[in-house]
Amino acid sequence: MCGIYGYIGSKSAHEVITDGLKRLDYRGYDSWGVAVMNEKDIEVTKDVGLVKSIEETAAKHSHIGIGHTRWATHGAVTVLNAHPHLSTDKTFTLAQNGIVENFKELKDDLVKKGYKFESQTDTEVIVRLIEEEMKTLPNIHDAIIKTFRKLTGRNTIIVLTHKGEIIAARNGSPLVIGQNSKTSEMYVSSDTLSFAPYVDEILVMENMQIVYLTENKIKAHDMAKGTDFDPQFEKLDVKNSIVDKAGYEHYMLKEIHETPESISAILHSNTEKYLSLAGLLKTSRTVYTMGSGSAGVAAAQIAFYLRQNSKLNAISLIGAEAQEYFPLFTKDDVIIVPSQSGETADVLEVLEVIKKKGTHIVSYVNMPGSMITRMSEIGFLAEAGPEVCVMSTKVFTSQIAWGYYVSKYIMGNKDLGEKELITLTKTMKGYLEDKKNHDALIELAKMLKEKHDIFLLGKYQNFAVMHEGMIKLIEGTYKHAHALPAGDLKHYAITLIEQGVPVIAVYGDDIANSDIENSISQVKARGATVIGVGPIRHGNLDHFLRIPNTGETQAIMNIIPLQLLAYYLAKELGNSIDKPRNIAKSVTVK
Ligand code: GLU
Repeated sequence: MCGIYGYIGSKSAHEVITDGLKRLDYRGYDSWGVAVMNEKDIEVTKDVGLVKSIEETAAKHSHIGIGHTRWATHGAVTVLNAHPHLSTDKTFTLAQNGIVENFKELKDDLVKKGYKFESQTDTEVIVRLIEEEMKTLPNIHDAIIKTFRKLTGRNTIIVLTHKGEIIAARNGSPLVIGQNSKTSEMYVSSDTLSFAPYVDEILVMENMQIVYLTENKIKAHDMAKGTDFDPQFEKLDVKNSIVDKAGYEHYMLKEIHETPESISAILHSNTEKYLSLAGLLKTSRTVYTMGSGSAGVAAAQIAFYLRQNSKLNAISLIGAEAQEYFPLFTKDDVIIVPSQSGETADVLEVLEVIKKKGTHIVSYVNMPGSMITRMSEIGFLAEAGPEVCVMSTKVFTSQIAWGYYVSKYIMGNKDLGEKELITLTKTMKGYLEDKKNHDALIELAKMLKEKHDIFLLGKYQNFAVMHEGMIKLIEGTYKHAHALPAGDLKHYAITLIEQGVPVIAVYGDDIANSDIENSISQVKARGATVIGVGPIRHGNLDHFLRIPNTGETQAIMNIIPLQLLAYYLAKELGNSIDKPRNIAKSVTVK
């Protein structure tokens, strides 16, 4: 994961970069570091934890620098392991987003040659390798290219040299250059939104491209072709790029409240794209859906809608487990990929393989200019607005609502789909604005706070969504939560049910009713405390959260109380809500 940032301009580089890193820290917040070019040398400031601004030092007056916010993959969370890493002679410093998969053999070789390592990161290997190459090559550009070619894995690097040059190269992990055509300021980052307010043009880097930035100058080289190229910047058009909590205590709560607008945005998108998608899906052999984490659950729910409403042969996959399907993908298949960042490494790896087989790629991504969108034949922009909380809420809900809409659209039921979603957003808004609903959830959170394990039951349209409820509880509360297929419970997990164990049943008023009723009775008979989340009151419930009945969009409605429950429980527990421990939002490593 990790975020990288760079700046050349007239402002204090340190201030610009720390500000940028704060916008990027959803990508990892184990440690951070900033390196700036002082009059004679490079000054590096690093620390563990969240990005902090520095006191008044010389570093504040520099106009050129790079920064990094880390999600540790190799080496503990320590100041020494924080990036950027300085070269032995202090003439350059480097940060990486990614993993050098062959770092061990490269390191062993360098150690034999007498190199000493200060940190345990795979990234320091890149620094020492550049030093080694510089012994025989005329300049650092050539040394970086030669080194870069020796790395395996997905790595994107940013380098600051003592001559005031920023060099950035991409392979796998994202890299975007931003330019302000009026002030000539230049920015380098892992995403566009982190510098969007300050630039009007962007250059989205492709794999194996490298740029060299000096004041007012940019040079670009394609390492795969071995040729220079003229970088073609595109105009940036990003709405809502500046975000704040708008009076809410946490981004999570604000973003859950923004869900109705995120769903409404679906109805304003480009008709042409939906028509092409309808054509593609109708002639496809198999429709795969795929995502990772919450997007993996969204993929499952989208597949459910495509089977249920469109009678398509839809199969959902999670990115990290799609390999076994490689031999099955053909040019007659379509894969639909929901993603927040559009940069998920597990997903990109699969897409790279199946694109070669001619499988049609369709995506629904929230972050503009992402790699997944660029790889797609039809790329929908979610327009759910920036999601800052690391736990996905409104973007997840927008993904499944989009899946529902698509499933209706392609069957010629566009108007019906729209009508259902408009009713849903109104109902959802009403639910979110009613204080009584929040009070009931807070009361429930106070009870659950004392429990070690939380079970969830779901079926049919609420099967995937109940899993998302589990993910939210795990992410936010660090408690053990367990999602169970309501009907399968009796085959194994019933052994875990004993007096006082909380079980949350998530349901609609639909064909799963009697099975849900049975499962509730079965756990109740073994002493469970049962909480019903749905539109009807089943018998045997200890607590009942009445959710408005939205019929076939019930799952999209039901995720709201589950997300809110995770929020209030995390708050009761005093956890870091917007940045839960150990996770990050954009998972660009495998
Ligand atoms: N592998 C690097 C480290 O552990 C960077 C990790 C990342 O990009 O998430 O420091």
